[in-house]
Amino acid sequence: MIMEKEQESYVNYYEIPYQEVIEKLTTDAEQGLSQTEVSQRYEQYGANELEAKPGKPWWLRLLLQFNDPLLYILLIAGAVKAFMESWTNAIVIWGVTVLNAVIGYVQEAKAESAIASLAKSVTTEATVLRDGKQVRVPSRELVPGDIVTIASGDKVPADIRLFKVTNLQVDESALTGESVPVEKSVSPLAGDTVLADRTNMCHAGSFVTSGQGSGVVVAIANATEVGKISKSMEESVTLTTPLTRKFAKFSKVLLYIILAIATFTLIVGVAQGQDLPTMFDAAVALAVSAIPEGLPAVVTITLAIGVNRMAARNAIIRKLPAVESLGSATVICSDKTGTLTENKMTVQRIDIADEHYVVSGTGYSPNGEIALAQHGSEEASITDGLNPALQECLMAGILCNDSWLEEKGGDWTVIGDPTEGALITVASKVGLNQSDVNKERRRLDAIPFESQYQYMATLHGGDSPIIYVKGSVEAILKRCSQEITLRGEKIPLQREVIEKSVEEMAAQGLRVLAFAKKEVDSNQKSVDHEDIQGELVFLGLQGMIDPPREEATKAVAACQSAGIQVKMITGDHVATARAIAQKMGIQKEGQVLALTGQQLEHMDKAKIVHNVEKGSVFARVAPAQKLQLVEGLQSQGEIVAMTGDGVNDAPALKQADIGIAMGQGGTEVAREASDMLLTDDNFASIEAAVEEGRNVYQNIRKAIAFLLPVNGGESMTILISALLVRDLPILAIQVLWLNMINSVTMTVPLAFEPKTAGLMQQPPRNPNEPLITGKLLRRIGVVSLFNWILIFGVFEWAEAVTGDIDLARTMAIQALVAARIIYLLSISQLGVGLVQFIRGNISGLANTSAIAVGILAAVALQILFSQVGLMNVLFETASLSWQQWLLCLLPMLPMIPTAMLANRIDPPNPKTATEN
Ligand code: ADP
Ligand code: MG
Repeated sequence: MIMEKEQESYVNYYEIPYQEVIEKLTTDAEQGLSQTEVSQRYEQYGANELEAKPGKPWWLRLLLQFNDPLLYILLIAGAVKAFMESWTNAIVIWGVTVLNAVIGYVQEAKAESAIASLAKSVTTEATVLRDGKQVRVPSRELVPGDIVTIASGDKVPADIRLFKVTNLQVDESALTGESVPVEKSVSPLAGDTVLADRTNMCHAGSFVTSGQGSGVVVAIANATEVGKISKSMEESVTLTTPLTRKFAKFSKVLLYIILAIATFTLIVGVAQGQDLPTMFDAAVALAVSAIPEGLPAVVTITLAIGVNRMAARNAIIRKLPAVESLGSATVICSDKTGTLTENKMTVQRIDIADEHYVVSGTGYSPNGEIALAQHGSEEASITDGLNPALQECLMAGILCNDSWLEEKGGDWTVIGDPTEGALITVASKVGLNQSDVNKERRRLDAIPFESQYQYMATLHGGDSPIIYVKGSVEAILKRCSQEITLRGEKIPLQREVIEKSVEEMAAQGLRVLAFAKKEVDSNQKSVDHEDIQGELVFLGLQGMIDPPREEATKAVAACQSAGIQVKMITGDHVATARAIAQKMGIQKEGQVLALTGQQLEHMDKAKIVHNVEKGSVFARVAPAQKLQLVEGLQSQGEIVAMTGDGVNDAPALKQADIGIAMGQGGTEVAREASDMLLTDDNFASIEAAVEEGRNVYQNIRKAIAFLLPVNGGESMTILISALLVRDLPILAIQVLWLNMINSVTMTVPLAFEPKTAGLMQQPPRNPNEPLITGKLLRRIGVVSLFNWILIFGVFEWAEAVTGDIDLARTMAIQALVAARIIYLLSISQLGVGLVQFIRGNISGLANTSAIAVGILAAVALQILFSQVGLMNVLFETASLSWQQWLLCLLPMLPMIPTAMLANRIDPPNPKTATEN
């Protein structure tokens, strides 16, 4: 790549003054590149994307599939068979094992790439100057020479030589390992400056932790520093989850038990005088029968399907374990603005001095009017001409602003922060235009908005330079000493009047912003936090409405009936938050309290824990307190889902069991720290994800309930027959057929089971509950016993009647599968649907086709298993006559009461409220 060569052969961009850099890259700090230039450079340099780091080669990943204790047994069993020269046996055992590995490999690869591509589907954007206009473009479309602006919370999109910084601090730990953010500057550095000290550069892959900066892109994609060390910025996808780890542990324990029992059988058999090869066969069959070979594949598939279903409902899983934790979530802590509410802000009321104005119009279009509300009446009259105070308050709103509006076919949208968009709109309703005002009062410097300060400030030049500040009432008022009258004269601050206005507005659920100014010396060129610590002149208040999302209100109710607490966490005013929480049913009247960050600050740890459990609204919460909230809840055993959008939310997001970031609003920093992204920023999507998470768990549980009784029945059969010195009713290879081919065909469809109605009327699952509960164990016991009687009975009877051992085994297996179909129906929605269908209601059959297909496929395979010559050779089966087939169907009948009993012991689906 040319950039790379240039960089190495001659120029270090950090060494030369930025003007030269701009010249070298033939670009323009005021105008940026032109669109034609961008297209050309894009052609030349390609997309700004790191080449994917090659993962493990496929053959290694395939081999790793065999790295499972249970599979070792199979491989060894095959080897022993080969040693004993039972070649067909050996080949079948190995063949089925390989098939199993291939299925596992394909499933894992599919799941991994699905998760990875979902995560990628959320594009990172960059703010860039092109043709003299600021635009947001996907980061992959940046080219060298682009002039970009980065701000707190952004991920640096490319290697950038800075030429303007405002308190810019960058976390470069991904690149340098240094976890303390680095303060940036613009002046040239010595040639031998090491990467970590190149303070006038920002490197791709680092994160802006505070401030703002502008610079020119000097390297993209693999020519960037991070590209050179070819350290992939994408975290690799892992498919391990707490559940899969539990399985791994379970397999190990199982392995030892199996080995012990198999050895025991072998010894007892030989002691009873049976010959060694027969007993060895029995031991192998026993080992093979006890292993639920199909289970890992089913678990992975179920998780992967859960991920896809969540994505379809706007929740993108970044880390697979979240799928499980979602199912057991007990508390959801959600941001208010944008997640519970629409984040479509409209200024509705403005208070200046002791007058208040009402604003008409909706959305961001300039249609609407500002009218003076008459004292003591609801009447309002249009103001003729703007009074100086109102004008200045509106001006402050558009000058102290980092966002802008865009119009497409009469539709107005905000680029940036909706809170700021609303301020631009309201000013435009009286003809104040953002770009005109900005030209008149050029911005010299700014302190961008950050949650932790709760304000933003800008310095504007001209004859009388001035700083405008806007922010939360608390943050602004404590810095003001004066206010202006309607005519623009300064008088001492009338704090009570203002606070009364604020209370009124907040009680209506309005989000209130306060505005202030400070006149400064004409030689002041920059603004710092110290400059606005005091002596500000208060200008007025603007109150904006941000309606609750309708779906979110419903979702809150759904969560509550599912036993999940919903808590609102916000940086907003407590009264505003409370008003909205009440509207949405989050805070039940009089029941629970609303707390502020300030109150939390004065509490000790025990008190915080007590209050986070009880409280449902937390207002003016600082990001660091979010972490305290999560930890407090977790210490009470809660499983916490927490949303976050700011730079400082990362620790809380990481600590939460499910950290949730926003796909549209919010910062890259928060996204990077999260387990899940909401593509629509909507609380309702969290509820949807919880529901899907519960379904995943339920379906995995069903798979276990379905698979294990067959293993149980087989093992009992082999163990008992071997100990009774009778012919084995089922051979090792036949067990493999059942456990792998038949089980996978019939169990995988369980992963596609539709959600049941009662899913969200249940309390959350206890996270400490073992995978296999007492109930489930009893269910497995009952059905295993039935299966044992069935196999043993059919085999003994058929052998006695026909004297043909192959035929007797085949019949036992066919009978087992027939009964198994009934059992599958009894735990799946297809069974429920069929019962409803018989009662005349067809709707229960919706979305059950997967199970139907699974059953049909299993039937077809069973026919091949006994009726095809080759299969008779491979699996030592015999073909059945139609009468024998009919006989094999008989066990379906006694399976019906057995399955009903099992369902009583351990209900497969949650009951809906009406059923209870
Ligand atoms: P939230 O979004 O939950 O309301 P924030 O931390 O974003 O919390 O905002 C906290 C407060 O800071 C807001 O209630 C508002 O008063 C003020 N604020 C929000 N956005 C801006 C902004 N762009 N500029 C100045 N002040 C802001
Ligand atoms: Mg906000």
